[in-house]
Amino acid sequence: MAAQNRRMYLLALAAGLFTLAGVIWARGGTFFGDEAAPHTAESQTWWYCYECVNGFGLTAAEYDGRTIDARHPAAELKPGDIPLTVRVAPCPKCRKWAVAALKCPVDGAIFDRRPPDRSPSQCPLCGWSPAKPR
Ligand SMILES: [Zn+2]
Ligand SMILES: [Zn+2]
Repeated sequence: MAAQNRRMYLLALAAGLFTLAGVIWARGGTFFGDEAAPHTAESQTWWYCYECVNGFGLTAAEYDGRTIDARHPAAELKPGDIPLTVRVAPCPKCRKWAVAALKCPVDGAIFDRRPPDRSPSQCPLCGWSPAKPR
């Protein structure tokens, strides 16, 4: 009986060490990932999805290598129009392309950085604009 208990104890110890090693490995992976592209709130950039009518943030690690320059997804082109090319990132909800956005420092609204009608970018809630900050 005593020998069996001892074996159970060793098994539990081994399982514990294995878990610990896994945690350290996972932490290490994140740490080295941070070196390349930070996964922090400060590195966050803002994106606006016309499909979901919603804005979202991506950290540098999340958008690294996943953004492209593409035709503005909400632009309505008339014949002869030169397509507006903007930086886009995949929307985490609908997987469509979301455009580079700005976040209003007043109320936190996220809005298109370069509207398809080429109007000046401004907050839909309070009218704040990077061109004429209050
Ligand atoms: Zn979306
Ligand atoms: Zn605002």
